[in-house]
Amino acid sequence: MSKAAHLDLPFRFGTVGTPLSAPKHGGSAGGVQRIRELGLSALELAWVQSVRVSEDACARIRQAAEQYDVAISVHAPYYINLNATSEMWAAGRERLLAAARAGAKAGATDIIFHPGAYMKRAPEAAYRLALERLSEVAETLRKEKVNVLLRPETMGKSAMLGTLEETINWSREIENVLPCVDFAHLHARPGDGSFNSYDEFADALRLIAAGLGERGLKHMHIHFSGIAYTSKGEKRHLNLAESDIQYKALFRALADLGAAGRVLCETPNLEEDAVLMQNTYARAFKAAARRPVEKTLT
Ligand SMILES: [Zn+2]
Repeated sequence: MSKAAHLDLPFRFGTVGTPLSAPKHGGSAGGVQRIRELGLSALELAWVQSVRVSEDACARIRQAAEQYDVAISVHAPYYINLNATSEMWAAGRERLLAAARAGAKAGATDIIFHPGAYMKRAPEAAYRLALERLSEVAETLRKEKVNVLLRPETMGKSAMLGTLEETINWSREIENVLPCVDFAHLHARPGDGSFNSYDEFADALRLIAAGLGERGLKHMHIHFSGIAYTSKGEKRHLNLAESDIQYKALFRALADLGAAGRVLCETPNLEEDAVLMQNTYARAFKAAARRPVEKTLT
């Protein structure tokens, strides 16, 4: 979807899950309205346990999204593993398809999911099997004319499938696939406090631009939060102010390298940090606009 017209920024900002301050009985459609009241313009529906949503509810979400100009995405159930046994994959495949089909009815353009775990397989073999299975799901949705992008997310633990490189490579091979770049997960994944500086964030954006060109850099889908981690990676999400994440550096890198798309906040205080992210980015974007954009990217 186009940029957020009300702020004229290349990124839309929002929350994963209904804002905490939305009316209790308003459902996701009420959440969409609350997003707009907060001055935000994106919402990710957190269908993370299962896809249990009626046709009516989908229609209400879609109508509210159009009325309030809020871009909708779906976080598919956690229980999807592209590297699972055939039996387990049959169930995961149905969950991913269900999230995409219902999501499209709710007006979602992007379906985000966790690609799975390596289990005992070598990373290269797991990557290949995941590629085959993801291609088949993408093909099935194209045949059904379910017009969504599938977004494998970068994951926060070294045992999980989903390095930045893997998500870029799947996206190179499959037409309607692009990464969901969770920068907090990428920070937690090595477990040593690295991937938390302007240069490392900018290098990640250059990798996306080199692998996917404008299709990747100008249509980013970003998850972001503070994060607690051990040497094995992610433990839990934290509010920005209570974490070590260098969020100002991230938003400067996004502005300086001319990226565009959506940023969805996943901190415990949800909309409070989503607004902080938007304000931080708006300042960085204005500063970058006074300088020439790096011309060597795409
Ligand atoms: Zn996720």
